[in-house]
Amino acid sequence: MARPVAPADDWVARTAEQVRAEGERRHPGEAPTCASGISPSGPVHLGNLRELMVPHLIADEVRRGGAPCRHILSWDDYDRFRRVPAGFPAEFAEYIGRPLTAVPDPCHQHPNWAEHFKEPLRDSLARLGVRVTEISQTQMYTSGAYTEQIVLAMRRRAEIGAVLARYRTRRAARPEDTEPDDDDPQTAVYYPFRPYCAVCGRDDTTVTAFDDETTEISYTCACGARIGPTPIAQVAGKLAWKVDWPMRWAYERVTFEPAGVDHSSPGSSFTVGGELVSLFGGEMPLHFGYSFVGTSGSAKMSGSAGGAPTPADALEIFEAPLVRWLYARRRPEQAITLAFDAEVGRVYDEWDALSRRVAEGKADAAAQAVYARASGTSDGPLPVTPRPLPFRTLASVADITAGDQAQILRILRDLTEPDPVVTLAEVRPRLDCAQAWVAEYVRPADRTQVRDEPDVARLAALTESERGALKLLTEGMTTDWSLEGLTTLLYGVPKLQLGLPITAPPTPELKVSQRALFILLYQLLIGKDTGPRLPTLLLALGPDRVRALLTPP
Ligand SMILES: [Zn+2]
Repeated sequence: MARPVAPADDWVARTAEQVRAEGERRHPGEAPTCASGISPSGPVHLGNLRELMVPHLIADEVRRGGAPCRHILSWDDYDRFRRVPAGFPAEFAEYIGRPLTAVPDPCHQHPNWAEHFKEPLRDSLARLGVRVTEISQTQMYTSGAYTEQIVLAMRRRAEIGAVLARYRTRRAARPEDTEPDDDDPQTAVYYPFRPYCAVCGRDDTTVTAFDDETTEISYTCACGARIGPTPIAQVAGKLAWKVDWPMRWAYERVTFEPAGVDHSSPGSSFTVGGELVSLFGGEMPLHFGYSFVGTSGSAKMSGSAGGAPTPADALEIFEAPLVRWLYARRRPEQAITLAFDAEVGRVYDEWDALSRRVAEGKADAAAQAVYARASGTSDGPLPVTPRPLPFRTLASVADITAGDQAQILRILRDLTEPDPVVTLAEVRPRLDCAQAWVAEYVRPADRTQVRDEPDVARLAALTESERGALKLLTEGMTTDWSLEGLTTLLYGVPKLQLGLPITAPPTPELKVSQRALFILLYQLLIGKDTGPRLPTLLLALGPDRVRALLTPP
């Protein structure tokens, strides 16, 4: 079928085309496979989401082009439990060395530890429109799916050991290397398979013999167990990580698998895997390194366990297409920063501006492509907010009203005259995002607390000019109680005081008076020098409350 030619700088289109062509060359007539791997050893944070979003964007692009493409999510849930993550009871140390699926669930609602961390990610992926085929490594290993590959690796242990040893020498010169390494030889003879002890369930095991003919294995364990000889097919255990990964590239016929930049260094599992994959009858996937994902202002008030924000945290304050956009708009080598602070409003404004340009047909081809990838997938569009009011406005309203739904609707109605919002459903899910942001990321000291009682002392100390300004304001309010009317009035009061028409152009002198008036109003209404936009604040409070707080005794 005819395919549009991708712009040279469009990495998604370019990679998708390479994946499609390479898949066809390797396995004609078969869908290519993009792969992601996640270890459910603790909370899966936003940085890990790039491991999923990059292959997703490519697989989805292939599908948009009309061809099938598989995106597998390999759960590394048969990995050993290495350490108890921060925020979890120290008693879990008891399970160190066991597979993640053999550690109890910390909340007693899931079958095991791994499932506890899979569930929130699975939910986030569904909301993001990321369609994956999940593969549990526990299921694969314990079902015997890899037995043939394990026997092969054990028979070729000398070759594998030599490759690992060659890279290990190089790695010795790089003390900063912190990549977890469970591949170091346990004995003079290297065995790429490590059993989980049949007695204690841990992997503190040492292989002592393997018979290439009978495939029988013997091992000892730190717990004192001495097992074997037993056919390896009946022994729980897994291949060392650097052998396991290329084995799976071959097994799943992976066409494309990117990795974090740290994986592409010499001696990394990626490099070593590239040397070992042919042993298993496969080829190294197409790949590139992607850069890091950082966050700003991400300290959540309620303090979720584990600290670093998760995709679910991001989806609480960003509509799903925005999260996709934050990943899709950056090239892989560019770092991504997700804002949880006041920048959130700016991110929404940029997104809204892009959406408008696309709707008006004013976006260039690159911007249109990024927008299409963010706002939907080959499966269809993602849900949007029917009336995308500016995030900052919604956040202000959520702040002023402390979340009161009836008040929010009343204010939004006033704000959107002459085409008023009729129900809050029109402004959801964005309103929910704004409410969550105010509740979770705006410090209580920065939130708006409207005075319950007038500031009697300040009102008694008003100057003549201040008194006059408040009078002009409270009287003027009755004429036009709308966002536009109140804006004109607020900026107009100092003009009227100078005997100028309310429509007079601004002057430096006027700006000083306007600023002084705004500070006075903030003090009298919310007891601070700054706050949400005043017209919005006045609308939120309603004329009676405003008058009560601004009228001298
Ligand atoms: Zn043991």
